[in-house]
Amino acid sequence: MSELLSCKGCEGFEELFEDGFCGYCRNDIQKGHRDEDSGDLTEEGERYYKDEQESVEAYPKNCTKCDKGIWEGYQIETFKGVDYFCSDACAFNKGYTKEQYLKDYAEGGDTYWTEWEVSA
Ligand SMILES: [Zn+2]
Ligand SMILES: [Zn+2]
Repeated sequence: MSELLSCKGCEGFEELFEDGFCGYCRNDIQKGHRDEDSGDLTEEGERYYKDEQESVEAYPKNCTKCDKGIWEGYQIETFKGVDYFCSDACAFNKGYTKEQYLKDYAEGGDTYWTEWEVSA
């Protein structure tokens, strides 16, 4: 019975090279993201993966006008529902002014500046 070996680095059961690492981890080692002896991520590697994770993290909303991903901005009630805007420039134009916004905001409802969270 042959023993199933896992990668020295990620502990995954990928196809392993002679040195005990999978292709992904070998790649990491080459870039200096993983230690060749211990198989652990180096400080640089940890930073790299953290950045990568953060950059793919989805924004909770997108600006209705410019489609930029946003964490905070204007939420403005329209006759169709609710629109989201990243900035004054996107939210206010000839059709909808800041004066109108302030009036709507004062009346309550779904028109205000807010922060959104990513829903899990
Ligand atoms: Zn691996
Ligand atoms: Zn915008």
